[in-house]
Amino acid sequence: MYTKAYIGLGSNVGDKKANLAQARFLIEGLKGVRISKQSSLYETAPWGKTDQDDFINQVIEIETELRPLELLHQLQAIEIKLGRRREVHWGPRNIDLDVLLYGRETIDLEELKVPHPYLIQRLFVLIPLAEIDSELVFPDGSKIGEVLLRLTKSADTGDLRKL
Ligand code: ADP
Ligand code: MG
Repeated sequence: MYTKAYIGLGSNVGDKKANLAQARFLIEGLKGVRISKQSSLYETAPWGKTDQDDFINQVIEIETELRPLELLHQLQAIEIKLGRRREVHWGPRNIDLDVLLYGRETIDLEELKVPHPYLIQRLFVLIPLAEIDSELVFPDGSKIGEVLLRLTKSADTGDLRKL
């Protein structure tokens, strides 16, 4: 059975576009995974820890036979293959791959929280997600349009530029 899932890609070190392209190539090569949609690339000011270079972010939709933890582990293997070192929390990284949504499932493990905990606070994730699927509904029943509207009204949402 194939489940639709959404992956957030981010990079702020080295050739950022090439890093994302390599990550997509390796994701497409995973057994039991097919990329079904891709958002545009977005250039974004760093979030959380702001004394670092801008990020390029993208969201892709996949159809997958992998269970959520298998998917996470495959994505972590790709991060390592692309030379990701885990040093500073929220610090610079050549590649970051996050599981944003997995079907309509809610997962609350130490290792894997879905929907991704910061999803609804991050414009650079919500905007590309809405670009891919403007009718998206979260596991709690909220609609992406409403979540996006609430965020843009409430917060300093930072700079975001479509490339
Ligand atoms: P972040 O993406 O928050 O900047 P990391 O990429 O270093 O930070 O991830 C830290 C940990 O987050 C990983 O060890 C992973 O097990 C955990 N994690 C929890 N939920 C998720 C998720 N939905 N997607 C990816 N990683 C997750
Ligand atoms: Mg991550």
